[in-house]
Amino acid sequence: MWIQCKCNYKIHDSSDFLFYKGYIVSDQDWFDFLDLVSKAIKSEEKDREKLVSEVYSAGSIKKLIYQCPKCGQLYIEDEQSGELCSFYPDSKVNKRLLESAYGSEWKGYLSAYWYDEIKEWSKHKGVIFPDVNINLENEELYWDDRGEEFEKAYFWDDREKFEKAYYSLFEYLKGRNILRWASLKVNDKRVHEWSNEDKYL
Ligand SMILES: [Zn+2]
Repeated sequence: MWIQCKCNYKIHDSSDFLFYKGYIVSDQDWFDFLDLVSKAIKSEEKDREKLVSEVYSAGSIKKLIYQCPKCGQLYIEDEQSGELCSFYPDSKVNKRLLESAYGSEWKGYLSAYWYDEIKEWSKHKGVIFPDVNINLENEELYWDDRGEEFEKAYFWDDREKFEKAYYSLFEYLKGRNILRWASLKVNDKRVHEWSNEDKYL
């Protein structure tokens, strides 16, 4: 799904870990939620899965919030009407208000695809998407060739340069400890995958 912002930007909500999407919890609910988690941890209930599902369902106290990455406008879910309420920023506002509390230290993703034949939805054979909270332009990366950049994705048509760039970026982000998962696919076949936790593999 996506939201058409009043500035005409399309705010997409079709993947996880979006820096412009968040959740709001009422102060009337927050401490009850922490108490519930704490009770679940201390509980002697043998069925641990039951406790996990109790905590997950209590997570439904959250309300959605989005911030347009282009103009900074906020949209907050109104559960009563089912609509999104919009709020105009009154001055130059931080457009990454909803990014991780860990900021630039947030562990993100690196994914890359290569197709020997250019797909109809692309102009290039290879693309690398680094989803991290640092600005790669400010980093001392050792890419021979950065490819062509568009909206934080990098495009290549030279397979060797593409793979070299992927692995060098992978090593860099892993070395900075800001990566949770990385994947490289060539013609739909996974040729490299790495995760800092088993659950992502
Ligand atoms: Zn906007």
